[in-house]
Amino acid sequence: MTYTMKDLGCYFDGAYGFVYNAQRLVDFAEEHHGYSPTTIDWDDLDAIVWEMDDVTGYLNDNTERPPNTYWSWEGGDFGLWLYCEACGEITDEDYTCCEEE
Ligand SMILES: [Zn+2]
Repeated sequence: MTYTMKDLGCYFDGAYGFVYNAQRLVDFAEEHHGYSPTTIDWDDLDAIVWEMDDVTGYLNDNTERPPNTYWSWEGGDFGLWLYCEACGEITDEDYTCCEEE
């Protein structure tokens, strides 16, 4: 599928916990985008973190998205976010991050 600006936002809320979200993210990438997860020990936090790098990179390489949008973890939440080219912050379609007061 092709993602649009309507698809921006949090996909896996940090409130559910990192390991649970990591498992959901791997499932999401596998089911919807053909990702092949490595066999990992879900009790090994380092292994999970490595896997998250792989799966995040995979999604960013293998999904069609609007410019300046990337899959990533932000503050414990995993989502598809728009990054402002000027300030580097996550922003919205109006780039309110850089609006003058
Ligand atoms: Zn900005």
